[in-house]
Amino acid sequence: MSYDVEALRAQFPILAETGRNGQPLVYLDNAASTQRPLAVLDAVDHYERHAHANVHRAVHVLSQRATEAYEAGRAQLAAFLNAPSPDEVVFTRGTTEALNLVAYAWGGMLAPGDEVVLTALEHHSNIVPWQLVAARTGAVIRVVPIHDDGSLDLDAYDRLLGPRTKIVSVGHTSNALGTVNPVAEMAARAHAVGAILVVDGAQGAPHAPIDVQALGADFFALSGHKMYGPTGIGALWGRMELLERMPPWQGGGDMIETVRFEGSTWAAPPARFEAGTPYIAGAVGIGAAARFLMDVGRDAVSAHEARLLARATAGLQSLDGVRILGTAPHKAAVLSFVVDGLHPTDVGTFLDEDGIAVRTGHHCAQPLMERLGVEATARASFGLYNTEAEVDRFLTSMAKIVRLFR
Ligand code: PMP
Repeated sequence: MSYDVEALRAQFPILAETGRNGQPLVYLDNAASTQRPLAVLDAVDHYERHAHANVHRAVHVLSQRATEAYEAGRAQLAAFLNAPSPDEVVFTRGTTEALNLVAYAWGGMLAPGDEVVLTALEHHSNIVPWQLVAARTGAVIRVVPIHDDGSLDLDAYDRLLGPRTKIVSVGHTSNALGTVNPVAEMAARAHAVGAILVVDGAQGAPHAPIDVQALGADFFALSGHKMYGPTGIGALWGRMELLERMPPWQGGGDMIETVRFEGSTWAAPPARFEAGTPYIAGAVGIGAAARFLMDVGRDAVSAHEARLLARATAGLQSLDGVRILGTAPHKAAVLSFVVDGLHPTDVGTFLDEDGIAVRTGHHCAQPLMERLGVEATARASFGLYNTEAEVDRFLTSMAKIVRLFR
């Protein structure tokens, strides 16, 4: 069956909003946050109207419904990730919290001189939590450099790995450049020196099928709002063997087995890492989003977005004074660029005048911007509902901007 983008668009009510100046809205800020389909809006609404109570503790009917809805969300995410068990999925506020969890709790077991390997592509949320844990434990951070096209220097990666390497934490897909990293290969090499591999999957989950077992990952973090689900919900998947060895990071209700004033014992994962009342409606929403993406077909989404990226890339390349940052052979639908003589903020503002939403700034990747020698870029990022006609409107607007303002 061919990819019916118009039928998909009809499932996203917000896409009917108008952009600035009454222009039809072209939403190209999907790497920052995607919009939600009816499947997600309706699932959350249904939960709120018919099933809300606190989870896990009561015998009454609403609590049972809420618990079932919450746990169904977990099961759908497990299927989405091809995780061996839903018990390996820990709900968090998002990728940021998931990475903080693993850095604090697993990273807290590091010893002075142990090494954590990151890459020059990382989002701040995959840098700063490791800096915090390094300051606490005396661990040392090493950084895999990139080539000029935005791909990782894997020879340098090999040279960084050694007996001191305990953790490698890498983004699946760069939010700033779109580079898709060879995570499976990196996991195999990390494991060969006895290290674990953590994946920041925020930008991987919306663009391609994810199979944590095939990736050989040990932990995988994701955010609901980047994969057509709600904000404020995300998950940390971890291999059960590691989750069982990992101490809690927050204390409170639901994460314990027994509590005495002399000391407490911990519940098994995932409850051990979910202290307090969780965001139940969020779990319902992210589960519905996972189901939605599986139903649309993630290979079909990837292929569609690759067509959009190719069209947009070719179009931008033909404009004088426009430079694309990130030209790695393997990219997801993220297009970062700068225009000679124009600040990225101005480019974003001019595009907005034409109804086109892009993001400008450092994309929470200041070390990467420094490596590329820019302060900021403009970034168009595509989602499953964008069309070739929208890419063409973006390119027409860009041609006008270059003609009038450069
Ligand atoms: N990692 C990457 C690669 C991201 O793109 C983002 C969001 N921009 C994050 C982590 C953080 O995600 P969140 O803000 O949803 O926690």
